[in-house]
Formats: sequence, C-alpha cells, structure tokens
Amino acid sequence: MKLRLFSLSPVARVALGLVALLLSLLIALDLLFGLLPDRIEQVRQVRQQISESIAIQTAGLLQSGDLAALHGSLREVLQRQQDLRSIGIRQAQGQLLTQAGEHGLHWHPPADGSSTVDQVRVPVLSDGSAWGEVELAFRPVLPESITGWLFYPSVVALASVALASFGAFYLYLRRVLEYLDPSKAIPDRVRTAFDTLGEGVLILDKQGRVVLANKLFRQFHPNAGDEVIGRKVADLDWLIAGFQMRSATQPYPWVTAMEQRVQIQDEPLDIMRAGSDEPMRMLVGCAPILDGHKRLRGCLVTFSDVTALHRINTQLLVTLSDLEASKEEIRRQNEDLHRLATRDPMTGCLNRRAFFDSADPLFENIKGDGGELCCVMSDIDHFKSFNDRYGHTVGDMVIKSVAKCLGSELREVDLLCRYGGEEFCILLPGSTTEQARDVAERLRASVEGNAGSAIRDIPGIEIRSSFGVASIKMGAKDTAELIDQADNALYQSKQNGRNRVSIWAGERSVG
Ligand code: GH3
Ligand code: MG
Ligand code: MG
Repeated sequence: MKLRLFSLSPVARVALGLVALLLSLLIALDLLFGLLPDRIEQVRQVRQQISESIAIQTAGLLQSGDLAALHGSLREVLQRQQDLRSIGIRQAQGQLLTQAGEHGLHWHPPADGSSTVDQVRVPVLSDGSAWGEVELAFRPVLPESITGWLFYPSVVALASVALASFGAFYLYLRRVLEYLDPSKAIPDRVRTAFDTLGEGVLILDKQGRVVLANKLFRQFHPNAGDEVIGRKVADLDWLIAGFQMRSATQPYPWVTAMEQRVQIQDEPLDIMRAGSDEPMRMLVGCAPILDGHKRLRGCLVTFSDVTALHRINTQLLVTLSDLEASKEEIRRQNEDLHRLATRDPMTGCLNRRAFFDSADPLFENIKGDGGELCCVMSDIDHFKSFNDRYGHTVGDMVIKSVAKCLGSELREVDLLCRYGGEEFCILLPGSTTEQARDVAERLRASVEGNAGSAIRDIPGIEIRSSFGVASIKMGAKDTAELIDQADNALYQSKQNGRNRVSIWAGERSVG
C-alpha cells in the first residue's frame, strides 16, 4: 500500500493535495455558515412533534381511565413509527404505568432529567398539574457502525465531492503542465547533459510533442528555439519538408519507432539554411523510450550532421560520372582512330594496309587447312568519263555508291577493300570458284541495277563494273599472287567488253 502511494505520479499527488484543501475549505465554510443542512436538528424537531402528539393522546386516554385502550394505542404507534424503539408512560412518583416495546432495554435518559435527540420525555398534564411523563426511545440518529458511517449522507456527499474534484484536478493539471511547460518534465541536469552532445537531440512524448530540444538542435534553424517545446514535431514544417523522398502515407520515423518499439537509423533529412543553397544533410535516428514497466513514454530523436561527408560523397559521385564520361569519350576517340587507321574515309571500306593485315594470315590459315578462298577484283567501267562529264564530286559519289552496292551483298567474314581509285578487292573465305563467280555476278548486277539510281543529282546515270575472280585452288602462293590472278581475270573482263565476270583459269581466263 505504501509502495503504491509512492508510485503515484506528481500530478496525482498535487491533485490529492488540492482535494484535501478543498474538503477542508468546505468543512470550514459549513462550520461558519452552515452550508450543509443540519440533519440532527431536523430529526429532533420531527421527533418532538411526534412525542407531543403521543403525550396529548395519552392524556386523553388517561382521563377516560381506559388503560387497555392506552396500551393498545401505544403498541399501534410503535408499529407505525419505524424510528421508535419503545414507549413508556411513567407516573410522577417514578412508577411505570404501561409500556410498548422493550422499554427497559432502550430507555437510557440523561441523569439530569432532560431529553436528547434519541431519548425524549414529554410531560403529561392532568387537570393542569403534572401527572407524569411519556418516555420515547428512538433509534440513534448517528450511525453506530463503520458501514453506517460510510452511507451517512454527509459522508457520501463529501466523498462524491472529493472524487469528482480529484478527477477534475488531475486532468486539468496534466494538461496545464504539458502545455504550459512540458520541458519541466526533464530535470535540469539531464538537459545540460544533452546540451553537451555533438548531435541534435529531441525528446518527444507519446503524442509526438517536443519535450526537450538540445542546444545543437536549437541552432539548426531560426525556428528551432524554445518555441518548438510543446509542439508536435510533425507540425514543424521547416523540419518535415526535409524528408523529400517520402511518400505521403509513410509514417515519420519517430512514429514507426514508437508504434513498433524499434530503433530507426540513418533516415536522411535535409534542413535548408538561411542564405545558403546547400542544405544541411542529417541522418535521423529514433529510439522509443520505455519506463521500468516497459510502457512507452516517448521517443528520443537524434540528428547527425553529415553535410561535409555528404558534400564529399556528392563531389566523388560527380567526379566518378565525369570519369565515366571521359572514359566513354576516350573509347569513342579510340574507335574513331581505329576506323581512321583501318578504313578508307570516303567509302568506309578497309584500306590496303588493314586489308593485308587480315588477308595474309587468313590466306596462310586456309592454305594450311586446304580450304577454299577466292579473290574478286572489281573496277568501275569508264570511270574517267564520270569525272570528265560531271566533275570529281560526282565521280566521288559514284565510287561511294558502288562501294555501298558491293558491301550490302557481302557476309560478315568477307573482306572488302578499296584497292585503288575506283578499284575494289574482295576476299571470300570458304567460297569455291563457282560460289565466288555467283557472288561476283550478284555484285555486278547490283552495281548495274542500283548504283546509278542512288545518285539523285544525275538522273539516268548508268554505272557498271567489271569483275575478275581467282581461287586459292589455282595455286597462288600468297595473297598478292591471288590478287594478281583476279586482276588478270578482271583485265580479261575489260578486254571482252566490260560489265562482266571472268574467272582466272591459268594462263587464260574464262568469261
Ligand atoms: P576502264 O573502263 O578501262 O577502267 O576505264 P577508266 O576510265 O575507268 O580507267 P582509268 O584508269 O583510265 O581511269 C581512272 C580514273 O579515276 C583516273 C583518276 O583520275 C580517277 N580517279 C582515281 N581516284 C579517284 C577518286 O578518288 N575520285 C575521283 N573522282 N576520281 C578518281
Ligand atoms: Mg582503274
Ligand atoms: Mg575503270
């Protein structure tokens, strides 16, 4: 019992004190001005009236001398009056004439012959002189047991006042203490300890209201001073706005910490600073505060300023992205360099050096394996006349158009090289002479059919090419000899009227 009293909250204790004060005041006012009705006096008056009417009735019956009627009348009165325990009729000499109830048991009058509220005497007159008196023993007006006192009206009234006022005082004090100065809930030495910390700290009550804001937190923002005390932290717009990446339905970290009784760590928060574009980057941590009975009392919220680290991180990310961009640029430039070094800038075909770099090892491999390899040489017919008739720009367009026709008909593994001004050399790995002739024929038809129409500046321009084919199977010892043989077959095509394909067949090529 003693322990429970000690565990009463300060608010409950103050409320109890106020109730005691109020009760004392009420009792004092009652004593001075009679606030509460005087129940004993009211009872005394009623009993006096009852007693006197019985005395008058008794006097009448005595005069008639009918003792039996008197006795009957007294018994009837006793039955009707619940408040009465016994009635006695005593003569002036002290002799009891008659009685109703156990009068000897209940009649205890004061020795001085007066009446009390419970023991009442009324004189009976006969012919104007005192004949005797009626004695009435009433039930005690004040309770005789503890239970009786508990239900006594005045006690019930005072207890009700005490209970109601305690409830009212308790609620009122709790509100007043929280709203007027919730910070008073934290002792000064605790406050000082929090002020020495290198992190911003908020202590919230169960409703998320700020009970304490330490020194560092108060420096975060012009509105972070004492005015935050007692306010809900969710109402501090300058603070809440910093949780930019949250969805509207996501609870704030302190709410989650209190609801789920878990610690929250490293929730990022940006606080804008006056006169600076760069916000302060905070990492917010929340820990629920529980009392000795594991009941939730509030939440400890910490704010670690990681702005400097965040700045370095951001710079690092920018540098990394720059590095990535320059790496891509270098790769692109290398690709350009490689293309420039290996390709003919006008047609995009392999240049002679790159062609031979690939062709020589290819020739050696295929020759070693006994596989198939064919070379096709191609030369634009009467090319000079395009230059002469339309100028070099159109001549260049003709060369590009023919290169495009050739390239579009070839496989990935084939090598296409711009061998000279308007000459092209093609290597077809794995192709037999017949297959190579078919390819050459397809190329010829493509040039004849498509190359001219691609040059829109000169409508109706007719472009044709001649082709010569040689196979490794004809005994060439290296790439140069194979090319030579194909070139000889090409010469044969020119000799035989151009726009045709010839096959190298030893000393004599066949068309
Ligand atoms: P043929 O049918 O016998 O091959 O006759 P042709 O006129 O095509 O032969 P020729 O070798 O006499 O002419 C080739 C001309 O191509 C000579 C040269 O001025 C020209 N030429 C070489 N390279 C280029 C070039 O890159 N652009 C242009 N426009 N002309 C070039
Ligand atoms: Mg030529
Ligand atoms: Mg030519």
